[in-house]
Amino acid sequence: MLLIYTLIFITGTICGSFAVCYGWRFANSYSIIYSRSFCEKCHTQLKKIYLIPIIGFLIQGGRCTTCHSSISIVSLIVEFFFGSYFLLLSFLTTNAENFIFVTLLSLWALLLALQDFYSLTVSSYLLCFGSFFFLLQNLFKIQNHFVDWPFILLFLISLAIFTSFKFLGLGDVIYLGFLFFILGFYDTLYIIMIGSSCAGIYHLFAQEKKIAFIPFLSFGLFLLLIYQESSLY
Ligand SMILES: [Zn+2]
Repeated sequence: MLLIYTLIFITGTICGSFAVCYGWRFANSYSIIYSRSFCEKCHTQLKKIYLIPIIGFLIQGGRCTTCHSSISIVSLIVEFFFGSYFLLLSFLTTNAENFIFVTLLSLWALLLALQDFYSLTVSSYLLCFGSFFFLLQNLFKIQNHFVDWPFILLFLISLAIFTSFKFLGLGDVIYLGFLFFILGFYDTLYIIMIGSSCAGIYHLFAQEKKIAFIPFLSFGLFLLLIYQESSLY
């Protein structure tokens, strides 16, 4: 059992590492299949051992071994967080099919979060194809909340009005729209509540003019999924 949990943790860290690389490359217009990972400053390709999530960062001491510039800590944090998150989900989830659905949904949310974090925009392909995939996977549950669809549409129209005042980006509204249909009205309201509170607190301290909202919404989604799985447990 210990071996399985270790493998799940490692898979989580690899997914986290991939998401950071994918988000950074999306923001800087590099293809994800371009080449092996490289230093962001001097562009020297990293040795294979430095590509190992968490361990690679620690071996390098947080600095590029060629140009000695410091490596962003974002990757270390995301890898550790996502590894621990997968591990927690595996403790809480009762069946394998549900575990796969929840982890894939979380990975999609993390990829979008990191794209938004690095570039304040998201790939429409990832957003739409991912959403349709999860909608198809969850068709049975979607029928359960048919009754809430008028509320969902009203809420989305209100959010769309916010985008014209530049309070929200269009990508945020489309992301929320899909979450409404995948998870239902009330669960998505919880996500908005958690996401807005965290973004508000962050904004107070960071004093940035424009902040990426999807990372906070995805964080809300992770908390909600943990809560849902623990209540099924
Ligand atoms: Zn370097």
